[in-house]
Amino acid sequence: MSYYNKCPHCGAALDPGEKCDCQAAPADIAARRQAIKECIDHALNGADLHEMQIIWQFVSKYCG
Ligand SMILES: [Zn+2]
Repeated sequence: MSYYNKCPHCGAALDPGEKCDCQAAPADIAARRQAIKECIDHALNGADLHEMQIIWQFVSKYCG
């Protein structure tokens, strides 16, 4: 059983001591979003078929 805190503002699950993004400044959110996107792009470029299928489980709901 894993322990986590809940954000009082949006209800997101947070690791102990983690601060929720929902209270961050818009510029911080945009920068963090861009950093994550670049990491995902990098991961996709290096992924093999099995890894792509794992990713597909997450993204397929957006692709009908
Ligand atoms: Zn939140």
